[in-house]
Amino acid sequence: MKDCLIIGAGAVGLSLAYELAGHGICVTVIDRSACGTEASWAGAGIIPAAKSRAGDSAYTQLSGLSCQLHAQWAKDLQSDTGIDTGYRQCGEIFFGHQQISGDPLSRDLQTLESLGVEIDHLDQQVLKKLEPAISDECLAGADLSAYRTPASAQIRNPWLLRAIREACLQRGVKIVEQVEVLGFDLEQDRIVAAETTSGSFSAEQVCLTSGAWTKALAGKVGISLPMKPIRGQIVLLRLNEQIQQNIIHHGPHYLVPRPDGYVLAGTTLEDVGFEKQTTVKAVREILHFASSMFPQLATAQVERCWAGLRPASLDGHPFIGLLPGFSNGWVATGHFRWGLYLSPATAVVLSQLMRGLTPQIDLTEFRVDRHVLPLLQNTS
Ligand SMILES: Cc1cc2nc3c(=O)[nH]c(=O)nc-3n(C[C@H](O)[C@H](O)[C@H](O)COP(=O)(O)OP(=O)(O)OC[C@H]3O[C@@H](n4cnc5c(N)ncnc54)[C@H](O)[C@@H]3O)c2cc1C
Repeated sequence: MKDCLIIGAGAVGLSLAYELAGHGICVTVIDRSACGTEASWAGAGIIPAAKSRAGDSAYTQLSGLSCQLHAQWAKDLQSDTGIDTGYRQCGEIFFGHQQISGDPLSRDLQTLESLGVEIDHLDQQVLKKLEPAISDECLAGADLSAYRTPASAQIRNPWLLRAIREACLQRGVKIVEQVEVLGFDLEQDRIVAAETTSGSFSAEQVCLTSGAWTKALAGKVGISLPMKPIRGQIVLLRLNEQIQQNIIHHGPHYLVPRPDGYVLAGTTLEDVGFEKQTTVKAVREILHFASSMFPQLATAQVERCWAGLRPASLDGHPFIGLLPGFSNGWVATGHFRWGLYLSPATAVVLSQLMRGLTPQIDLTEFRVDRHVLPLLQNTS
């Protein structure tokens, strides 16, 4: 392969561009707005602890590989661009575990233990030592169900995106912003050009990494992708001091502490189409959760609220591979709740496949034409 056109400059598209350009491929990335301003900007930046072995499911292997790559990429990006991605191992505490429907990333005790992920079981005393500001109500429940994965990490996704964008430019990637792809020119089994608001772009290979909007673009070449947007809302809180050390998880809700006193409180899983606004109901629910975990958060400043659209395949597994019927049309999308986390491994394995190599993870599980069993429940 000599050149490639990537449509969508979120975490997935930029990571793929970075990886391909690192192997000498001439890459152009097109985005209809500025790079990294959709779901990849909106996400919380949780990087779960994971391990995998040969023989595990492809999803588990993708998670394990991503976990390693985030640590490595953070170092590489910092040394190449001078930009800190905010990657920090901060640990993650779970109060019991509630599997989210359609989310293939299992983080219940049994699964984590069977994978060999390091786990600390927490009683009240240990929890109080780790998180002195946590509420008495949470402490009371801890003996029953709390555990911690010390290797869980976080990234500051806007910083990560800035770093990858810069690293892409250093590797010669052409980034075209504020240009929308409207359709494609086809010749037999090839996509020969993308038609855009700024003319026609052609390349030997074309990859769709357009997040929640990939379904619409794939539809333009006759491919039906079983996916939909799932809205998530976040409230950004600010205190003068950092009172929380670990990421805290309780069912669908979490609190992600930033070292500079900010706390990201999330989230919702809403099946409301492409509506990206925040709502009173969700913000109220998230704020209630935050202050019930850490009473001091009741006095925090509400800095900002936002919503993003997760690109969710109906079975929660991403689509990574060729568009059926095409020899040069590719796709990487549908990562649902974990697209930031899974983006480096997605980029590495897809780049291997696109360059004609056997990918280090068997991608059959992620084929576009697999049988998709709809697991996502209507959550609106
Ligand atoms: C509230 C919330 C919390 C989250 N928390 C986490 C987390 O903690 N950890 C984690 O791993 N993941 C998290 N996620 C999920 C994660 O953000 C997504 O899975 C991931 O960002 C998807 O990346 P992407 O590159 O596929 O899509 P996006 O970031 O949405 O990028 C797609 C890009 O394609 C562009 N585009 C679309 N159509 C066109 C077109 N026609 N022409 C040109 N460009 C186009 C868009 O402008 C956009 O920039 C969260 C998501 C939300 C909403």
